[in-house]
Amino acid sequence: MDKISNHHQLFIDGRWLAPETPASLAVINPANEQVIDRVAAGGPADVDKAVAAARAAFRQWRQTSGAERAGYLRAIARQIEARAGELAALSSRNNGKPLAEAEIDIADAIACWDYYADLAEQLDQRQNAPVTLADPGYQSHTRLEPAGVAALIVPWNFPFVTSAWKVAPALAAGCTVVLKPSEVTPLVELQLGLIAQSVELPAGVLNIVCGSGPDVGAPLTSHPDVDKVSFTGSNRVGEQVMRSAAKQVKSVSLELGGKSPMLVFDDADIESAVEWILGGIFYNCGQMCSATSRLLVQQGIAPRLLARLKAAAEALQLGDAFDDGVQMGPLTSQAQYHSVLGYIERGREAGLQLLTGGGRAVGFAQGYFVEPTIFVDVPTDSPLWREEIFGPVLCVRTFATEEEAIALANDSDFGLAAGIISGDPARAQRVAEQLQAGHIWINSLQVVFAETSWGGFKRSGIGRELGPWGLNAYLEVKHITQPVS
Ligand code: NAD
Repeated sequence: MDKISNHHQLFIDGRWLAPETPASLAVINPANEQVIDRVAAGGPADVDKAVAAARAAFRQWRQTSGAERAGYLRAIARQIEARAGELAALSSRNNGKPLAEAEIDIADAIACWDYYADLAEQLDQRQNAPVTLADPGYQSHTRLEPAGVAALIVPWNFPFVTSAWKVAPALAAGCTVVLKPSEVTPLVELQLGLIAQSVELPAGVLNIVCGSGPDVGAPLTSHPDVDKVSFTGSNRVGEQVMRSAAKQVKSVSLELGGKSPMLVFDDADIESAVEWILGGIFYNCGQMCSATSRLLVQQGIAPRLLARLKAAAEALQLGDAFDDGVQMGPLTSQAQYHSVLGYIERGREAGLQLLTGGGRAVGFAQGYFVEPTIFVDVPTDSPLWREEIFGPVLCVRTFATEEEAIALANDSDFGLAAGIISGDPARAQRVAEQLQAGHIWINSLQVVFAETSWGGFKRSGIGRELGPWGLNAYLEVKHITQPVS
């Protein structure tokens, strides 16, 4: 086995440790399919060690004030800021996303760490808050206490951001954590271990164990000493996580899949609409849980909009993350590449009409490059219309009325996000109120702020990240009640 560098080992109890049973994961650059690194792969015995370290550290960490924890969170944010260029490059090399997109990820992560530093500080003022009772004979006050040891399991599409959305609020709340990065993109998250060391975060507060889902993820979700599980990933695994956590009635947050609609009305500005539609489906090569992968276009504007959309999709510059002007990279893994091409093939076999794309991108001898692909007039019972593809594949239908658009948009098992493009603010607001989705963007790209919530209706998940809701996920509420003396 190739030698594994120190900070590619497991980060447990403030130190870099080799796994109990030697094993490693190959890390691939999806733009050229080359192995770029190896990281240690943990197993159940390492999970035991990491959870024990987190449990031991919890005794002290839970006693710290919110202000003290805020100090650590801000220091982590500043360290990320100082290493932003390096982290973005690492992220692009491992995930394949254009460097400019990776830079946005790092900026979003910094904003998240800073935001939860503020909320940690505010927690001090929120402790022991008196509750006004209808019964004058009693008094009660509220305490907000950390849930305990949190297992945080994340996917590969926005690894540094998704980790920040979990680790920052968990630490702010006073929890200690075991983070399990995706086996596909572990590099950038391992940097958090180095950052934790550089800010002298107490040992055991943050532990990072890379490895496969069955070897590390599953033992975490069933571990008797884990109090809270927060999972972001596929519905298939999300269901397993929920089942596993149910045995001990652990608190579970789930951020799962999506099949989000984008609604474009006749009164939309075509050029802006094209920009927002492209951003909603081709950013990060379509590997977004919130991808607006079902496009609903009102009949009057459809011919002109689709003609512009086709031209714009065909003009997108594909390439290596570090190439000048590149707008879309490869898919992140070979498995994802085959899965996306499989959906496209099913669409073609079913006779769906292609507006553009429809296969492997030409001009690339290596790498998981797929053409920006648009199918039109897709039947609502097609798997391409109903299932999450998680790649650069857009399915289009037209509609006549606002009511029809809303019905089509809500006809999905998922409910993570939606987009509305309209020149009529009253209409946009009216439609937004009727859509079943956790985040709705009107006349906008998918901007996400630390202060707003993230999470879905229906099968898109349970709970919310970001905002105060993201912190609440790691807090227990306690009331202390007694007679008025
Ligand atoms: P995945 O479900 O395959 O894996 C996610 C994580 O779970 C990985 O770290 C994996 O190793 C781990 N895992 C696998 N098996 C496990 C098990 N039995 N127990 C515990 N953990 C296990 O998902 P993925 O392919 O990495 O990511 C893509 C999926 O994530 C898509 O479905 C996407 O919609 C979803 N996602 C959702 C959001 C959101 O906020 N809702 C954000 C990003 C991605």
